[in-house]
Amino acid sequence: MNTLKDFAYERPLVLGLAKSGTAAAKLFLESGLTVRVNDGKGSENDLVVSELRLLGAEVVVGSHPLSVLEDIDIIVKNPGIPYDNPVLVEAEKRNIPIITEIELAGKLTAGSIIGITGSNGKTTTTALCGHMLMKSGVPVKIAGNIGTVATDVARTIEPDMQMVLELSSFQLMGIQQFRPNIAVLLNIYQAHLDYHKTLENYRQAKCNIFKNQTAEDILIYNDDDPVVSEAVKEAPSIKAPFSTKTRLENGAWADDNSIYFMNEKIMDRNEIVLVGEHNVENILAAVSAAKLSGASNEGIREVLKTFSGVPHRLQFIEEINGRQFYNDSKATNILATEKALAAFERPTILLAGGLDRGNGFEALMPSLTHVKAMVTFGETAEKLMETANLAGISTVAQVDSMEEAVQKAYELSADKDIILLSPACASWDQYRTFEERGDMFVQAVHKLK
Ligand code: ADP
Repeated sequence: MNTLKDFAYERPLVLGLAKSGTAAAKLFLESGLTVRVNDGKGSENDLVVSELRLLGAEVVVGSHPLSVLEDIDIIVKNPGIPYDNPVLVEAEKRNIPIITEIELAGKLTAGSIIGITGSNGKTTTTALCGHMLMKSGVPVKIAGNIGTVATDVARTIEPDMQMVLELSSFQLMGIQQFRPNIAVLLNIYQAHLDYHKTLENYRQAKCNIFKNQTAEDILIYNDDDPVVSEAVKEAPSIKAPFSTKTRLENGAWADDNSIYFMNEKIMDRNEIVLVGEHNVENILAAVSAAKLSGASNEGIREVLKTFSGVPHRLQFIEEINGRQFYNDSKATNILATEKALAAFERPTILLAGGLDRGNGFEALMPSLTHVKAMVTFGETAEKLMETANLAGISTVAQVDSMEEAVQKAYELSADKDIILLSPACASWDQYRTFEERGDMFVQAVHKLK
């Protein structure tokens, strides 16, 4: 087990008791530090509160009093807690550094790090890259935003191992020295502005992925994304671009028939199971990172011939009476839904709606040409109905539940149609998570039979 080295602080405050906060608190306790934990929502009866107290932590739950900052010299915050939380505002005034658990993971691991970020495609690319390395016999573990706590995994990474880390902008905001050997920047699209306030803040958070890289590290990036290709100009790293449009001598690219890496053909596109042009981008990024970390063409091909998508990401569910159902519940913003719609040419019935972040949906209009009907729900149901009307979609229905949405979509459908859940909105207005929303969709689809 790797232990925390070169940690220059003695009195950490762990803010937020989710999985990553609990892991960070335990790590500090094991390292002999005096730990305080604060969670605004937790209750005295929570098991984890008793457990951390037994291990020696001071735990304050139920609110965020400023007194939790007393004697503190570093804060490890849960990525979801916004910077306008009063404790963080006060900490910034007092110049107390604020990091996320990713910084600790970087200090713990003894092996190499492949860090993957972008507005969309992180999980898919992380899973693809990890599987390509596994299939090639390269020792690897997958961690981070994808579901396994980065510090828990980083402790077990040995010197000859790769850690493939999915990184959100929230996690990347809180790094100091974190330095991936290979960084992957997929795309930068207007997202999470409720948290980051401006696109510039968000861009900077994403660019943190290469801020500590040196001329020995590699930066894989999307050359087709103008914001990305401009941003990486400032990076000192070795650049490995990828493109679905242009032939690149020094990176990965695709034409209509094949995918290539550094002028070598990797495989034919018709052997790839994943659908959607956006997934070609994810594939090129994953192939680049995997090849540069020792994956074989054979290993890569085997994965791409069988991988049908991470659940809730444009995942094929089943065909009922000629209608194909796809679950893309993870499409929590407009760009993701645009990409999902672009994956199909057949008449499509789109199920969309969810949390209202204040934005309009006009940007979706050019992608709706083959959408024959729309079923909307959630806080944005009406806004989406207006967009559908403006786009000239004659059949639009508003419903309350996912079951109703699926039934309505089926009623409106014909043989050979696509029925696609790709909400363009977060799920938190009606569901706990996008997974719960996707599961409800899948259940409702199975009920149709
Ligand atoms: P993330 O982890 O960044 O949220 P996922 O791989 O989970 O990304 O995919 C989320 C959604 O984003 C998917 O439902 C898909 O429709 C869309 N998407 C995936 N990859 C891309 C991409 N490279 N560009 C744009 N949209 C994408």
